[in-house]
Amino acid sequence: MKTQWHFKDLILKEIKKNGGWVNAHAHADRAFTINPETLDIYRKHSLEEKWDLVDVVKKDASVTDYYDRICKAIEVLLAQGVTVLGSFIDVDPVCEDRAIRGAIKARERYKNDMTIRFANQTLKGVIEPEARKWFDVAAAMVDIIGGLPRRDERDYGKGSEHMDILLESGKKYGKMVHVHVDQFNTPEDTETELLCDKTIEHGMIGRVVAIHGISIATHPKAYREMVYKKMKKAGVMMISCPIAWIDSPRNETSMPFHNALTPIDELVPRGITVALGTDNICDYMVPFCDGDMWQELSLLMTGCRYPEIDEVVKIATINGRKVLGLTE
Ligand SMILES: [Zn+2]
Repeated sequence: MKTQWHFKDLILKEIKKNGGWVNAHAHADRAFTINPETLDIYRKHSLEEKWDLVDVVKKDASVTDYYDRICKAIEVLLAQGVTVLGSFIDVDPVCEDRAIRGAIKARERYKNDMTIRFANQTLKGVIEPEARKWFDVAAAMVDIIGGLPRRDERDYGKGSEHMDILLESGKKYGKMVHVHVDQFNTPEDTETELLCDKTIEHGMIGRVVAIHGISIATHPKAYREMVYKKMKKAGVMMISCPIAWIDSPRNETSMPFHNALTPIDELVPRGITVALGTDNICDYMVPFCDGDMWQELSLLMTGCRYPEIDEVVKIATINGRKVLGLTE
């Protein structure tokens, strides 16, 4: 009989050799919160609407509820051999500090099994005074300053100021900064470029990580190359969460052909560090991602037509530790 091949076995073996999977981006505090009755929220609403609709699973959730959700997400990841997790946790006027307190308790429970780093999610922005108050509470508690500039861009036209506040806090506390950018798969997005400019302006070179960067691929090649140069100059790294945006809704906008994925086939050859995350697990944002790391990685390789095994093993392991500040 001829030898039979299965790349999954080969890649999983290499991942283990390199210290196990690193899930560099998740929202474990909202994991497993969607159900058949609430699936309509996913069906009928945009992401921007869901930034507030998701309040229903936050406003009455206790520290214990959050702890339970996060523990379940950690168990799902542990079962696959995930050794490091970076998760955003909501800290805002709706859940206040209950989610992060539950998260810190969960981290303590699993401290011998998994290295865990938390960033704060700014779902309500950082401009509105009450939201800003909770951002400042969070900034002192988390390992990494997290952000979502689009929230303040939409509400106040202040996405750029949102980035300034994140970067100033990162500098003040000596913490890395992780920012959701270019999520909407549209050429109107230029957030990765702005984040690079802001990183240099605030003297945070090598300390900033972009999450998603889907919209980079909607721009013409000359613009993309310019962004990659800026990323290199600013030392901005990227986390790709493949399932999270592969459901980009059909529309009639013309743009260069691509799949709705972080363009890792262009980023990696240009020397930009790329890591892998699951993003949302079974929640209002992404109901059908169940935290399966292999599913994420195989979608990324396939959708970007990127069969470079050595590089994808790094994406799934050592690069994850790098973006979380665990190695240089
Ligand atoms: Zn996210």
